[in-house]
Amino acid sequence: MQDKNTRHIASSHFKDWWKRPYRMVQTNLRMPDAQYDQRLLAREVREMGADVLLYNMGGIYAFYPTALPLQAENPMMAGDALGAAVEAAHAEGLSLVGRLDLSKATRKAYEAHPDWFVHNVRGQALSYNGTYQACVNGGWYQDHALDIISELLRGYDIDGIFFNMFGYMNHTYSGDYFGICVCDNCRARFRAFSGRELPEREDFSDPAYADYLKFQDRSAMDLSARIYDHIKQLKPEIGVTGGRGKSDLIRLEIQRFIFREPPEWPYQPGEQARWARAFGQGKNASSTSTNFVDYPWRFAAETPDCHILRFAQQLASGASLDYYLLGTPDQADQKAFGPITELFEWHRKHEGCYSGLRSRARVAMYHSRKTGKFRARTRTADLKGHPFRGAYRALIEDRIPFDFVCDETAADDGNPGPLEGYDVLLVSNAACLSDDEARRLDDWVAAGGTLIATGETGFYDEEGRPRALQALSSLPVRQLNLVRPDMRGAYFRNEGGEAGLPDAGLIMLDGYYLHCEPAEDAERVLALLPPQRFGPPELCYPDVDSDLPGILSRRHGQGRAIYLPWFPDWQYYRDSLPDMRRLVTGLIGDAVARPVVVRGAGAVEVTLQKQPETGRLLVHLVNYSGQRNNLYEKPAELHGLLLGVRGAAGDAKALREGSVLQPLSPQADEDGYLWYRLGPVGAFEAVSIASQS
Ligand SMILES: [Zn+2]
Repeated sequence: MQDKNTRHIASSHFKDWWKRPYRMVQTNLRMPDAQYDQRLLAREVREMGADVLLYNMGGIYAFYPTALPLQAENPMMAGDALGAAVEAAHAEGLSLVGRLDLSKATRKAYEAHPDWFVHNVRGQALSYNGTYQACVNGGWYQDHALDIISELLRGYDIDGIFFNMFGYMNHTYSGDYFGICVCDNCRARFRAFSGRELPEREDFSDPAYADYLKFQDRSAMDLSARIYDHIKQLKPEIGVTGGRGKSDLIRLEIQRFIFREPPEWPYQPGEQARWARAFGQGKNASSTSTNFVDYPWRFAAETPDCHILRFAQQLASGASLDYYLLGTPDQADQKAFGPITELFEWHRKHEGCYSGLRSRARVAMYHSRKTGKFRARTRTADLKGHPFRGAYRALIEDRIPFDFVCDETAADDGNPGPLEGYDVLLVSNAACLSDDEARRLDDWVAAGGTLIATGETGFYDEEGRPRALQALSSLPVRQLNLVRPDMRGAYFRNEGGEAGLPDAGLIMLDGYYLHCEPAEDAERVLALLPPQRFGPPELCYPDVDSDLPGILSRRHGQGRAIYLPWFPDWQYYRDSLPDMRRLVTGLIGDAVARPVVVRGAGAVEVTLQKQPETGRLLVHLVNYSGQRNNLYEKPAELHGLLLGVRGAAGDAKALREGSVLQPLSPQADEDGYLWYRLGPVGAFEAVSIASQS
């Protein structure tokens, strides 16, 4: 497929895109785009500074002449769009990742094999604009998908594969609920898996529902592994993207749903990058930033500043750059192109600084997928994922670098293990823990870690069934006696400022308080002042007191476990009171938490990564001052920030500003920090510094 202009570029250069930091542009092509000049498309993408083009291959509509009679060929295509695109991409020095959407097919496949497609209990097929949703357990996904992949890999010199919308679907594109698939394949496979019939309701009141969730997960993961193995058998060198399934790299998507629940959550990009890095355990990752605002308006563009804030968070947490256009670059709204091109060009220049990075955070948050899945079974389900988000915000806004540890990999035997290298693990209402996870966390505490848990952590098993005894033996609490939901008007007494808040004699409590049985050796901090009358004013004085604790703590082996029988993390998410944040982050301890310190005013996230190959540290500062609620515009430049880095040596390079920063003093201060004065920080800054080790 390579023409004479590209013969000097080794094939491995194109194939290895997923092993290095990359800049991808996804063009989600519409049928008429097959007529677009593919040379022009590749040139436009290259001129955006990208090195990877994501291009439609097939599934619903083939963008190449297919010999498979059930795969519809794009009727608006003349010739071979994919063939021309591969040639054009390679001529421009771009790797080409092919996009396959196996989730749907056209009517001719449906009429030939209706049994391959999703049908609900009313016998209706899940169709949308003339396409039919394939069932994970049906022949389209299970067999025909492999034929499509074989045809593509034999015919085209592509460098990677991306799968769109893989898995189960119970609603239409428009969001209308449709119900689960009850096809014969689903019935038979679920019966073999669980010994049960399919659930009639998608909630835990149906005894088959928990098993069905596991079945969905297992069957989708099995299918993904089958497809991955099939690809690797044919073309081991190409990169296969994925999420939780078997893959070479992780690729997610960042977008705005206009109906999402307030308050605005601007941290989705960093959250996804942290998850991908933790789950992937060293795999490359990116989250594609959709150019458009929301699906119904695929051509109304986000502000450039929204994209740059997304990319800054992704880079800061070790992900690559990835930008998603619906259609070709020939868009009516191109306002993001200029700033994104500038960023991509900058990244190309500094690509070497981004290869092989490892996080140097000392703090991790525990990401419990199980809790998300089985939360509806817990007593505090109404808090949703907000405690986790509150803790996430507390760490970001207190400028503490942190990573995730995923429940799905926490019990893995890796070297290093997923918990290794962290001093503190923040377990924010991880209600559902398996015995294996709990044992691993306890061992880590015993070996010297500090675990901080809130709310219902560990009071349920891995499927959300209540436990008689709390799962973590390290925690200073044994069992849960009662969950009180009526703490409005309550406080904790903080006399003597013992909770690290010297200027707050009372700490506000709302929502739940968990009456627990503390361990015998638990140390107690704070005392609950039960709900107080808050009107009329004449009656607003305490009439009853208690000595129930707000913080419990105990040593476990070489480490310490701390438990808060309430939800300061959820309160911080809701109220943003700095006291609540300081209460959480104060427990972490500055000494271990902050390998890097930023001084000066401004909404800044800070992360620290290291390139083992060169020994260089890479500090990112992400500036959130352009974000107010769901408005994203140009951030105010931050001036006069001081950066202190432990273990740094010599001059630093501010890669965005393009300046060299000399340390303010040649010697580190008594806490081990070497200090630098930063120039103005725009949307973000990346500071590269040699390290002492
Ligand atoms: Zn089915």
